[in-house]
Amino acid sequence: MSSITVCARFRPLTSKEKLNGDADSVCIRCIDSETFVFKDDKDEELTFSFDRVFYEESKQDDVYQFLALPIVRDSVNAINGTIITYGQTGAGKTYSMEGPGILECDEQKKGLLPRVVKGLFDSLSPSDEELTFSIKLSMVEIYMEKIRDLFDLSKDNIQIKESKSRGIILHGVTEITVLDPAEALQSLSRGIANRAVGETQMNLASSRSHCVYIFTIQQEFLREKRMRSGKLILVDLAGSEKVEKTGAEGRVLEEAKTINKSLSALGNVINSLTCGLQGKTSHIPYRDSKLTRMLQDALVSFFITIICQIIPIIQQISVPHKVFLTKGGTARTALLCCCSPSASNVSESLSTLRFGARAKHIKSSPRVHCIEEKSNTGSTASSPPGDEFSLRIM
Ligand code: ADP
Ligand code: MG
Repeated sequence: MSSITVCARFRPLTSKEKLNGDADSVCIRCIDSETFVFKDDKDEELTFSFDRVFYEESKQDDVYQFLALPIVRDSVNAINGTIITYGQTGAGKTYSMEGPGILECDEQKKGLLPRVVKGLFDSLSPSDEELTFSIKLSMVEIYMEKIRDLFDLSKDNIQIKESKSRGIILHGVTEITVLDPAEALQSLSRGIANRAVGETQMNLASSRSHCVYIFTIQQEFLREKRMRSGKLILVDLAGSEKVEKTGAEGRVLEEAKTINKSLSALGNVINSLTCGLQGKTSHIPYRDSKLTRMLQDALVSFFITIICQIIPIIQQISVPHKVFLTKGGTARTALLCCCSPSASNVSESLSTLRFGARAKHIKSSPRVHCIEEKSNTGSTASSPPGDEFSLRIM
């Protein structure tokens, strides 16, 4: 089973590109829904294949159905997932993620986020009254290696912690419990507006920070006194263009270096996983940037099951319980490599496509690994056999 889905998306030419005459120098030629030919700046033709290629006529729903829906369904089954948009500024990352507007927009143009929200609630609606669920939402921005809470701008340096029972957590981050899709969209829209406020205050451009949307889905099986939790993370990355080459100075140069560092860290994590598969290395450098540290769970999933021993789950906070943290190799990640089709952006598009091509080599074959955590009664969970996380290159 594939753990990472890599897709490329070419947006339509903008009116400015059309005015510049870029329509005559489009750098891609479609072969089929997985393969295209890319003409580089030396007029050499390179063939790329991805899990799916979305061309300019592709619909937002096509992207959602192929790239996001399987991850949404898995997150409801407590398998963590991450959806990342990568590419230079102006390539269509935010359009793919949010659409033209999160609240009011043409149904067809809605981006991944509103579709994911609807998909989550649709998949969760319990038919069994012994099952209840809650969705919590957090929204943060990573700028210059500092994590800012987009639901509470006063929290401008959130720390990342690792918990045995919950995996990677953002210490003190605001978590809003959303009860229906409308409420979730209202909260997301508030976070997006706060991002703009913060940027105006600090005189930043949104393309220079990574925006991270975190959904925590918790389900309680009342009859079995069991609870499980899945995390779904969406990331609209900072622009991948190489600003230092343009002679940037001062803060712009510092920003560019920090962005490049975190994007290379993301590439290195992916690369290390690939090398690890070939027996070359076992160290995965998640700690090299805030971004990769936050996304650590994206590549290794945790199934959390809390079994209450005495009284119902609602009152379980201080009662004896066992926490089983199960590590599975099947956390799902999807990478959408967004590109301009214009020849004037050929070198940035090529760099985006190469990043995607490198990521595509990761495949995982699931094996369940059980990590145990001592319950406060002193008893422990036992590990099932076959306790390895294995990856292979396809
Ligand atoms: P990024 O977030 O990568 O900087 P944007 O998503 O803001 O780029 O897109 C840049 C411009 O291109 C915006 O005006 C956006 O509306 C338009 N655009 C991007 N992708 C598409 C698409 N698939 N269809 C139509 N317009 C698009
Ligand atoms: Mg953007």
